[in-house]
Amino acid sequence: LVQMEGVNKHYGALHVLKDINLTVSRGEVLVVIGPSGGGKSTLCRTINRLETIDGGTIVFDGRELPAEGKALAALRSEVGMVFQSFNLFAHKTIRENVTLGPTRVRKIAKDQADKRAMELLERVGIASQADKYPAQLSGGQQQRVAIARALAMDPKMILFDEPTSALDPEMVQEVLDVMIGLARDGMTMVVVTHEMGFARRAANRVVFMADGQIVEESTPDEFFTNPSTDRAKDFLSKIL
Ligand code: ATP
Ligand code: MG
Repeated sequence: LVQMEGVNKHYGALHVLKDINLTVSRGEVLVVIGPSGGGKSTLCRTINRLETIDGGTIVFDGRELPAEGKALAALRSEVGMVFQSFNLFAHKTIRENVTLGPTRVRKIAKDQADKRAMELLERVGIASQADKYPAQLSGGQQQRVAIARALAMDPKMILFDEPTSALDPEMVQEVLDVMIGLARDGMTMVVVTHEMGFARRAANRVVFMADGQIVEESTPDEFFTNPSTDRAKDFLSKIL
């Protein structure tokens, strides 16, 4: 679904992505892990062109990523994104947060979008909160709404950038459970997370990123039990 070749990205003098080669297949769950500042968020953001790149190519669903215009808007609507901070619209209800994209961007009729929104809120276990506002929900509930909102656009893949790191510990699992459900249903996912339990249960592949490079790429089992580089060993010894 995604093929990145020789991707480079600089912020001024800072070389944040160094010759990244990475493919994500349909239905695959890829976990990206690594030290702070290693370029994980930047990598995610290049996939839907929230960041420009200054070298290399990214092909999504058979087409090279457009840099601007209608084609870019179309691409963005096909790649869902869930961030650490939930980024819900504070002045809109939960239901409205989920229907906004489909009605505005996809031009889906209001009642149809509403029906689908309720199905999705049901799926993430939050239908009873549909008419509340984001501030009335817990962090875990808000993040589940953010996932429902991403799903409402029928994305071809979803990027998750540390979706549980802003949550109180007791709310982490409810969000991970929803993500594990999506993975089981075959959603293509790129997930930046340090949640090893999730990686072991749901990931097909783990990519370890440091200093703008992919240092190691392996199965979760291999990576967590027998990392091949000192860099990864050192990192794991700090987070385990
Ligand atoms: P973390 O685990 O802390 O989220 P990360 O692996 O996601 O880190 P990135 O956010 O991708 O890392 O950042 C990679 C590098 O690029 C860092 O050195 C960061 O300071 C720098 N950087 C990120 N965004 C910008 C920006 N908009 N302008 C300048 N430098 C940036
Ligand atoms: Mg980050």
